[in-house]
Amino acid sequence: MAKRLRELDDLPVTKLTGVGPERAKVLAQIDVSSIFDLLTHYPRRYLDKTKQTSIRDARVEESAWVFGRVVSSATVPGRGRGKARTELRISDGSGYLRITFFNQPWRARQLPEGSEAMFFGKLTDYRGRLQLANPEIDLLDEEDRLQITAIYPQSDKLRLYSKDFRSWVGEALRRSTELVEPLPAWLLDQHDFVDRTAAFHGIHRPESMREAEEARRRLVFDELLRIQLTLVLRKRRIEATSQGIAHDPSGALVEHLLGRLPFELTGDQRRVIAEITEDLTRTIPMHRLLQGDVGSGKTVVAVTALLTAVQGGHQGAFMAPTEVLAEQHLTGLRPLLAGITVPDAGTSLFGERPLTVELLTNKVGGKERQRILRALAAGDVDLLVGTHALIQEAVAFRSLGVVVIDEQHRFGVEQRAALKDKAGGGAVPDVLVMTATPIPRTAAMTVYGDLDVSVLQEKPAGRQRIETVWAKGDDEAEVWAKVREEVLAGRQAYVVCPLIGESDKLEAASAEETFQRLEADELSGLSLALLHGRLPAAEKEATMARFRAGGIQVLVATTVIEVGVDVPNATVMVVLDADRFGIAQLHQLRGRVGRGAEASYCYLVTPAAGAAGDEDERLVGNARLEALVRTDDGFELAEVDLDIRGEGTVFGERQKGRSDLKLASLRRDREAVQHARDAAERIADADPTLADHEELAHELRLFVDPDDEAFLFKS
Ligand code: ADP
Ligand code: MG
Repeated sequence: MAKRLRELDDLPVTKLTGVGPERAKVLAQIDVSSIFDLLTHYPRRYLDKTKQTSIRDARVEESAWVFGRVVSSATVPGRGRGKARTELRISDGSGYLRITFFNQPWRARQLPEGSEAMFFGKLTDYRGRLQLANPEIDLLDEEDRLQITAIYPQSDKLRLYSKDFRSWVGEALRRSTELVEPLPAWLLDQHDFVDRTAAFHGIHRPESMREAEEARRRLVFDELLRIQLTLVLRKRRIEATSQGIAHDPSGALVEHLLGRLPFELTGDQRRVIAEITEDLTRTIPMHRLLQGDVGSGKTVVAVTALLTAVQGGHQGAFMAPTEVLAEQHLTGLRPLLAGITVPDAGTSLFGERPLTVELLTNKVGGKERQRILRALAAGDVDLLVGTHALIQEAVAFRSLGVVVIDEQHRFGVEQRAALKDKAGGGAVPDVLVMTATPIPRTAAMTVYGDLDVSVLQEKPAGRQRIETVWAKGDDEAEVWAKVREEVLAGRQAYVVCPLIGESDKLEAASAEETFQRLEADELSGLSLALLHGRLPAAEKEATMARFRAGGIQVLVATTVIEVGVDVPNATVMVVLDADRFGIAQLHQLRGRVGRGAEASYCYLVTPAAGAAGDEDERLVGNARLEALVRTDDGFELAEVDLDIRGEGTVFGERQKGRSDLKLASLRRDREAVQHARDAAERIADADPTLADHEELAHELRLFVDPDDEAFLFKS
């Protein structure tokens, strides 16, 4: 009988010959507990023996796989502080090669005379002879004499070697015989996929590289399809089970707003406003993500949506991630909303009253809070600005029509549930989530696949490029000179202090230290202030207010200023130890300047060469800095980030449940993501409960988290 993945997942690895409790414990450390885990512990690469290098043809400076039998082996103890050295001589019949290991005395035991192995590394010259120093090893067994050998992620520390995986996987494949094929025939045909059973054989024991590649193509698709199906089904289910408001887009308020803007909307803004308006008129609640770089003009788009609700007699909520930002949003909204009036059924003689906006955060308490809550319930407040507590707490609107959530990365099923019935009559408000941390399209399709996505890519006219300079330690003096120059010209500056691990206590201490140093030394004579997360809220606000008003010239801060702080007069951003920050974070920080008419500068400062620090870490940091200097396009940076850091970047906390991207790469497999999306939509359209795709449904259950499962599969 053909086996399901679930059945393989129910079989512990101890079912295999040669895997006892001890080995099982070790395997569990790399998350391999079941036969299914083992079969999805995929080869890292293949050794194509038709491509291996013979010792006679090996050349210095080349990287090569060399096969050889150990002819002699010796360990030379280190002298003084020198390292112990193990030296092997190997032969493949065409010549001899010297293999050297430093500080790995156990290699002599692992590779006794007469044993055979593959050695991979870069050939170097040792006193006129070829040698491989600290090569990667692949031990060979009799049964591994395949033309193509799979090389698995191995661990010397855990003593888990490729050859072990080859033999366990070989046995697992033999004993599981045939696997269930979950894909419908049309889909297999459409992409010319090999079947599931062939794919698992092909990826682990291919007879040609082409077979391995075809197997990978199939298994990658399976992973991506499972994700896309989950997302599409979730989206469809929400659409089918919730009733929204069909807003009427033709009203005076939006017209009034657009007519009074001091600028022309960009083409992107127009397009996105049209997309949103289209959503708002439908009875299916909107659930849209708006991606747009810092300064791309998301606010006016959001206000358009909010006013669409208000002009139909509903209310709008605008949520920010922090109180400071909520207050700032309120400040930003006021001028856009000035002079707008709404019909008033109540007491006004003229039948109209000014549009009412209120701020509700945890700071607003007592009588004031009571007043706002009452007015909200009565419908006398049109727009409510605040933190996301707005929708979670027992805040009752008369009729909440549109919710805008700024910079909120996670807005999940639970939050959506909290929105139920805020609109009254069982209707769900329309939701627009905005983010200034763009992610590439295929990634968005995967991470936010249950949302519709709009993008503001075009920058408003007249935006200046922020000159970005990577200042290596020795050039730091020039950075401070520039800060001084700008400040003397009437402008303001930010200095962002190094990130220190996870501890905001340490971070605060270090910011304090930097502040004192700059005040006493590099920036003496200027007016500086310090801002970090551990200061009392009142003090933080007072400082921000003074900075905004121009009373402070240089703000020394931790990343608390990362998101959304808007002071157009600030023209210099200095980030210390910039290589410790991620691309997205640096891009956000840089976006704090260049918000006014003046030319702006961003200095990414890194320690002088040779300063302490983990070299590898620093190199990766440097690739990020180079990208930032090269471009200020957030989408391009997002692609670079994905390339450097991999998929983890985009999933973050949104990825719950079992991670299913073992083989697929959102970078490498962009096209497959789209194919999987198309297939998921076609399947979900034809069969929204997967009643006719029983095997796919079984598989999804293996991967989605239990909360989601109940939601997805109840019919
Ligand atoms: P963000 O996308 O970062 O939220 P904002 O909406 O805060 O951007 O807009 C940044 C600045 O650009 C604001 O001062 C806003 O008034 C201005 N702005 C928005 N759209 C345009 C436009 N089409 N032309 C010129 N300036 C614009
Ligand atoms: Mg904004």
